[in-house]
Amino acid sequence: MTSDTQGIGMTSQRTRDRMVQRIRDQGRVTDERVLEALRRTPRHLFVDEALSSRAYEDTQLPIGHGQTISHPHTVAQMSATLLGEGSPRKVLEIGTGSGYQAAILAQLCGEVHTIERIRALAETARGNLKALNIRNVTIHLDDGLRGLKNQAPFDAILASAAPTAIPTALLEQLAPGGRLLVPVGNAEKQELLLVERGEDGFTQTLIERVNFVPMLSGRR
Ligand code: SAH
Repeated sequence: MTSDTQGIGMTSQRTRDRMVQRIRDQGRVTDERVLEALRRTPRHLFVDEALSSRAYEDTQLPIGHGQTISHPHTVAQMSATLLGEGSPRKVLEIGTGSGYQAAILAQLCGEVHTIERIRALAETARGNLKALNIRNVTIHLDDGLRGLKNQAPFDAILASAAPTAIPTALLEQLAPGGRLLVPVGNAEKQELLLVERGEDGFTQTLIERVNFVPMLSGRR
């Protein structure tokens, strides 16, 4: 996990440590489990080789097909919010993209299922996870708006793309005590919502304003 494809230290462990230190300094993510997972995961392997020297900047980067890998800070915060005080066993992600968020979740949860609607991205992500020998992630090529009925229920569900409303299927597939983290809205206004399934229904908490790519229906 210390490979340095650039030979100039831009992708080294030290660079990754600095990235995590910046996230720590911002003070919003304090969960050591999450910070350690980010420290251990070579983000440069999830972006195009031409961009690998920029992989540890706190920025989103293109991964092709009009999609982006999220800011490391966003991934850290989403992961920490999803976990809360718990450690979910079975987790669903919608919007695999590069597979980076799934790779982080894989180190924090027992079993991760992640859905991507674009075949080429799903295939690249599969290769990325295989290269890191991550075995507890299954990538499904499908429309995540429907969730993943045959694997439900999930202890936690994280949407990496924004639907215009909370998809009913995702609520239905949440286990009792489960947590769903989902950005909801459109290009103008999106809010990150945490939905918790309690004994007698769902409670919803607004986390913050965000800006994710849209969750689109169908697959291609
Ligand atoms: N988590 C990713 C970032 C994903 S960007 C990473 O770590 O790299 C959002 C992704 O959601 C894109 O790849 C997009 O194709 C996918 N997406 C959008 N709508 C979807 C849907 N209905 N089902 C599954 N994936 C979807």
